[in-house]
Amino acid sequence: MGSLPIETFQPLDPDVLVKESRAVVDFIANYYRDIERYPVRSQVEPGYLSKRLSDQAPIFPQPIQTILDDIHDDIFPGLTHWQSPNFYAYFQANASTAGFLGEMLCSGLNVVGFNWIASPAATELESIVMDWMGKMLKLPSSFLFSGGQGGGGVLHGSTCEAVVCTLAAARDSALTKMGGDGITKLVVYASDQTHSTVQKASKLIGIPPSNFRAIPTSAASDYALTPDSVRSSMEADIAKGLVPLYLCATIGTTAVGAVDPLLELGKVANEYGVWYHIDAAYAGSSGICPEFRHYLDGVELADSFSLNPHKWFLTNMDCCCLWVKSPSSLVDALCSNPEYLKNKASDAKTVVDYKDWQIALSRRFRAMKLWVVIRRYGMANLMEHIRSDVAMAEHFERLVAMDRRFEVVVPRKFALVCFRLKPRFQGDDASELNRRLLEAVNSSGQAFMTHAVVAGMFVVRFAIGATLTEMRHVEATWKLIQAKADGLLLNGSCDKISSSNGLFSL
Ligand code: PLP
Repeated sequence: MGSLPIETFQPLDPDVLVKESRAVVDFIANYYRDIERYPVRSQVEPGYLSKRLSDQAPIFPQPIQTILDDIHDDIFPGLTHWQSPNFYAYFQANASTAGFLGEMLCSGLNVVGFNWIASPAATELESIVMDWMGKMLKLPSSFLFSGGQGGGGVLHGSTCEAVVCTLAAARDSALTKMGGDGITKLVVYASDQTHSTVQKASKLIGIPPSNFRAIPTSAASDYALTPDSVRSSMEADIAKGLVPLYLCATIGTTAVGAVDPLLELGKVANEYGVWYHIDAAYAGSSGICPEFRHYLDGVELADSFSLNPHKWFLTNMDCCCLWVKSPSSLVDALCSNPEYLKNKASDAKTVVDYKDWQIALSRRFRAMKLWVVIRRYGMANLMEHIRSDVAMAEHFERLVAMDRRFEVVVPRKFALVCFRLKPRFQGDDASELNRRLLEAVNSSGQAFMTHAVVAGMFVVRFAIGATLTEMRHVEATWKLIQAKADGLLLNGSCDKISSSNGLFSL
C-alpha cells in the first residue's frame, strides 16, 4: 500500500470544502451568466453520453477542475436548460439564489431528522415553517400546529409522495371500519385533468385499477371537475356495492391550469364521507397574493392540501408542502417503531416524529431551504415574483389574441397560456400544423414549449415561470413563434421537422 493516495484521503476537510465549493459556485454562476447561449432543449441523440464518458469508474481521485470541465463539455450538451429565461415547457421549476443557499445548508449540515431526537431543530423548524407557509396562504387554523386542533404540516419531496401518504391514511381509516377484504371495494375519484400521480398512487396503495375514476371534463367548465359529475359517479359506484374513498381536486391542472371548484366539491366529499385532498402543486403558491387567494376558497373542507414550493416559490428542487387536518391518521398508516429508534421524547408523545408522516425513514432538512427562501426574500418579493409571471402571461395572451392566425384555446390560468394556430380551411389537420410549429420552435434551440391534448385538440402550452424570464424574452419568443408560423403557412415548411421528441404529455 505504502504511498497510495488513499492514505491522505480526507473527504470532509474544511479547507478543501471552501476551495472546491468556491470553484463550484463560480462554475454555477458562470452557467447562469451564459445560460442564453445554450439551446434551451437539449439537441443530443439518445445514448450520446456513453460515447463521451469512460465506462469504468476511476480508481484514483481526479481534480475538481477536471470534473467541472467534463460537466461543461459533456454534460451541458445533454441538459435541457430549465433555468433558461426561454424555458416555457412542462411546469415552473424556478431556482433562486436563496433556494440554492438553503439547499447548500441542507446538504452541508446533512442531518437526518427522522424523529425529533435525531435533530430537534430539523423537526421544530419544519413545524414552524409549515405554519408560516400555512399562514401566508391563509389556510384554516385546523391545518396548523398552532391551531391547536391536531392539524399540521410536513415537507415531502414530491406531490406523488404526499398523495401516496394521504391515500394510505384514507385507506387504513376505511379498512379499520370495513375489514381488510374491503380494499377491492374502495374507489378513488379525480378528473381526466388530474395529474397522473393520483392514479399511480392509487395503484401503489392497492386500489384495483378498475376502481380509479378519471371523471371527464370539458371546455364548458374550462376543464374543471363538476360537483354533479362527481356525485353521479359516486352514486353509480354505491349502487354497485362499491365504497367511495378519496376525492382529489386540483388548483392549476398540469395541462391547462384548470381550477376545480373546491367549495362545491368539498361539500360532495363531506356528504359522502370521503377523504378530500387538494393538489395545488403548481398554482397553490399564488395563494399568498390576496388577489389570487380566492382560488383556495373551500380548502377548509379538505382533509389534506399540498403544493410544491419547488415549482413556483423560488425553492430549488425538491420541496412539497403537505398539510393534514388529522395527522394521526397519517401516523396510524405510516408509523414504524423499531427498538433502535425508541427514545423518551417519542415515548412521551410530546414531539412530532416526521418519519411517521412519510414513506421513507430518512429525510432531508428541507425546512432549512424553505426557511432561507422565505426569510431572504420576504413575502413582498415572493408575491412580486408570482405577480410578474402572471403579468407576462397576460401580455403573452394578448399578443396571441392580436394575431388572427392564432387562438387562445383555454383562457389563461395563472401564468399558463394554451394556444394554437387555427385550422386554415375545413378539413385542415390543426393538430399536425401545431405539432410542426412546436417542433420548429423547439428545434431552433431558442425557446422550449410543450403541448397538451384537450378535448382531442393539440394545444401549445406556454408556461411562464423561469426565474430569469423577463418581458423581453416573452416578446422575442412570440416573434419567434410568429416567424415559424410564417414559414409554415407560407411555404408549408418552417424548418426541418424531425420527430415529436420532447413533447409533453400528462
Ligand atoms: N400535480 C400537479 C398539478 C402537477 O402539475 C404536478 C407536476 O407537474 C404534479 C402533481 C407532480 O408533482 P411531483 O413531481 O412533485 O410529484
